[in-house]
Amino acid sequence: MSDRSGRQNVIAGNWKMHKDHLAAARLASEVRAACAGSAATVVVAPPFTALAAVAAELQGSEVALAAQNVSAHGEGAHTGEVAASMLLAHGVRWVIVGHSERRQLYGETDADVAPKVQAALAAGLLPILCVGETLAERDAGRAEQVVADQLRGCCSELTARQSATMCVAYEPVWAIGTGRTATPDDAGAMHRSIRAWWSEQYGPESAEGVPLLYGGSVKPENAAALLSDADIDGALVGGASLDVQDFAAIVSTVG
Ligand code: PEP
Repeated sequence: MSDRSGRQNVIAGNWKMHKDHLAAARLASEVRAACAGSAATVVVAPPFTALAAVAAELQGSEVALAAQNVSAHGEGAHTGEVAASMLLAHGVRWVIVGHSERRQLYGETDADVAPKVQAALAAGLLPILCVGETLAERDAGRAEQVVADQLRGCCSELTARQSATMCVAYEPVWAIGTGRTATPDDAGAMHRSIRAWWSEQYGPESAEGVPLLYGGSVKPENAAALLSDADIDGALVGGASLDVQDFAAIVSTVG
């Protein structure tokens, strides 16, 4: 489940707001069968309403369960929110935080995401922190600065120990759900920039260990080229994760 660098290779499927609990359980069962014995750590993130059904389907398997969001708060008067402890009780191990759809559609800022990261870590969940620039920011030559600012905004409160249990997903906003993918060279360059930031902040050991995933229209056709870069340790997959054959084909590129 790790590459030559010793880092974990993670392929995570973000099912977004697709699949009711019955359809999600069916897909989870297919993923479980198709990805058995995989060299990657395989993670699926169904909607909240399907977590229990998917957890039951995945029991005893190597496929791990993720949530797509988490509240920054503990249990209490927060209508519509879901606490990290509740996710944990469902068998959730990972949680996506700061996804660009939450930033763009629901106005989440780094200041909102940072306490979610803390809440997840405090509960023992493994955050997959999403960062990435818009097309206008890339065209203006600001992509690396934007991503560094997001990392600082979301992670500056982390202890060195906490930094070792994080996972970062570089997801250029212009590549999500658009069919456009960053070239392996561009994605790899950004991953090296993220790792350099991590090293400056938390030291080389933490930076060597942090899994950096790429996300943005990953498909079976482009996964191998992206994952062949030494600094791309896995993928966060949206659309293609809803098709078990496509998802399993992406998982199989890790080996
Ligand atoms: C995502 O939702 O994180 C994502 C990368 O979506 P897609 O693969 O569909 O671009």
